[in-house]
Amino acid sequence: MYVSIRGRVLLNVEAMNMTESVGNYVKHRRVPVVLPDTNYTTYFVPAISGESIAHGFQELLAETARKNNLPVCKLCEKGIFLKSTHEQVFKEAFGQDPPKDEFEFEKNVVTNCVVEDVGGFLYAPRAGGNVKRTSTFFTGYMIPVKESLEGAVIEPQLHSRYALGTPFVEGGQGQMIYYVELSSAVYNFSFDLDARYIGKATFSYEKAGEEIVNDRKDRIRVTLDAMQKFLIEFMFGAKKTRFLPVMEWESLVIALSDDVWTVPSPFTKNYVEDTKKKLQKVDYNTELFVYPDNGSFEEVVIDAIEKAKDRVEKVE
Ligand SMILES: [Zn+2]
Repeated sequence: MYVSIRGRVLLNVEAMNMTESVGNYVKHRRVPVVLPDTNYTTYFVPAISGESIAHGFQELLAETARKNNLPVCKLCEKGIFLKSTHEQVFKEAFGQDPPKDEFEFEKNVVTNCVVEDVGGFLYAPRAGGNVKRTSTFFTGYMIPVKESLEGAVIEPQLHSRYALGTPFVEGGQGQMIYYVELSSAVYNFSFDLDARYIGKATFSYEKAGEEIVNDRKDRIRVTLDAMQKFLIEFMFGAKKTRFLPVMEWESLVIALSDDVWTVPSPFTKNYVEDTKKKLQKVDYNTELFVYPDNGSFEEVVIDAIEKAKDRVEKVE
């Protein structure tokens, strides 16, 4: 089963993905983007990285898995996604020595941690013998959509922690001024899930595709539950305690298919029409759920996830 999600979301005054701070100035992430009209001009525009989205999703996945009594390792459980980096990390996460055999290693990690099963890992011990597992979900940079590209802004806002009238002001300690770059734009959003390898071996070529857990369907269901909450509550991004964005989904398309089938990029406005046209040409038992065409945002997401769960019964 393949789930493909694309959307457009208006984010006003967000600071969801900051990069370095220079002194008291905190910078918003920027990326170069080519505007396809007008001589392919390149703009540096605000962006939210795929890593940021993936981190938020995996935190929620860990929590959802634990609530459903599915295994999550000691580190992923706490939102520390070191993911079996080397021997010591493995030992700390799973409370045992890493298996020498590659297949056994992957089996061990996958069996004992849903986050690394779904989100992948990279084991790179000093002595060699790397084992890697590719993530089963795919996401990427949120950038301003085409019509919003030239109009996207980044603006530093002055803030201060003021302590006038207290003895702490002397020596310049009582007053801190700082700048946070805020941005406003309509961003594209992309997130795909390929459930094919959840609970299955991938690394050793002789055993790739072999089922190595006995709760594969539960794991896919939990991943879908996490996805539903992730979308509805928009659970990713930094600085949300004091820079909670003013947000509104403009549109969203969720496609469910039996094989890889991705929704076209929401960078251009007619992506919903393009998606429908694509379905007329390419169809792997593909079903579309479109906001706002098919109801409120929540209705569309919940409906799609319910249908996806029905499909889980049929996955092999
Ligand atoms: Zn883990």
